[in-house]
Amino acid sequence: MELSSTKAIKVKPGEKGAALADIEKESLNGSGSVLVKTDYTGICGTDVGIVSGKLTFTYPPKGKSDLVLGHEALGTVEEVGSNVKGLEPGDYVIPMVRRPGGCLQCRTGRQDLCEDADFVEAGIRGKDGFMSEYFIDESRYLIKVPDKSLSRIAVLTEPLKNIVKVYRIYRHSNTGALEHCSDGSFECRNVLVTGFGPIGILFAMIFRTHGFMVTATNGHTDPVRESIAKKTGIELLMDEKRDGSVFTGKKFNAIIDTTGVPSVVINGIKSLNHNGSMMLFGTSSGTATALDADIITMLVEKNCTVFGSVDGFKQDYIMALRYISMWKEMYPGVLESMITSETTPEHALNSLSSKQHGDIKHIINWK
Ligand SMILES: [Zn+2]
Repeated sequence: MELSSTKAIKVKPGEKGAALADIEKESLNGSGSVLVKTDYTGICGTDVGIVSGKLTFTYPPKGKSDLVLGHEALGTVEEVGSNVKGLEPGDYVIPMVRRPGGCLQCRTGRQDLCEDADFVEAGIRGKDGFMSEYFIDESRYLIKVPDKSLSRIAVLTEPLKNIVKVYRIYRHSNTGALEHCSDGSFECRNVLVTGFGPIGILFAMIFRTHGFMVTATNGHTDPVRESIAKKTGIELLMDEKRDGSVFTGKKFNAIIDTTGVPSVVINGIKSLNHNGSMMLFGTSSGTATALDADIITMLVEKNCTVFGSVDGFKQDYIMALRYISMWKEMYPGVLESMITSETTPEHALNSLSSKQHGDIKHIINWK
């Protein structure tokens, strides 16, 4: 393939703004590499944070001053190296975000559990991302989409793999207390999800799919969120003060926080039932809330677990695609409705500089 140029959305990490620029279109650089034509990229809070210049942990690849943005992507294989097995031109693929460093976890496919922060992440730290017309990747970091009819909703695989990991940890980390109800179902178990953005919606859906009774809270509502909650059987509460006061006094067996707001997290911990789990996925900065002795005592006396989680490994991406296939049948139109807007690369810079009110998932169409 001849060298030519390709369009990409670039940022200078640490500086405000992004630009659509021409970059050199690479050709296959090894027998295990794959040329992928980008179909869709998702925009998430991390992307908006990088473009705002305020995110502190982002940095460009070694020897470069700028970074191609984007870590949520769906693409089509255009060309494969001679040693690539299991992928051929025309296949849909999802690229993995985090790439291993040298620690034990990284060397064994578990860079999501990296022990010394020596990994890089496409579009975030130390590696160019996927907001470009084409990208080259090694086949081992590409997840084949087994069901081509998923089309653009498969762009939700990357955010969903984080949720698949948390659900897996939750089910494996119980105290030994019976999780199920007297009839063997999970219908007597109440789960709270704080925040009903794309991540909160996917968390609520995975627990609901397994039969838990799910309540979600959000700072505002709109017809799309209400429709998703109704179709999936999730109770949606307005947390107008955005401090968790809406669920004070209720008790939950499991709580997932996607807000990262300390007051919401503390109110959540106080709402844990016996043998309860508090799962932290959201992050924020700037605000402080004191941890008091009563909360520590409560966590001890009630056998409660609190854990945080980030990223996911290859199996979590694969399982995320299985859930998307299942949900397409189980909840027709729900995943499609989460994609509330779609733009061209030329118009994406607006969406990257501010989140529109009521937007759930915004994607860029590169086709
Ligand atoms: Zn590592």
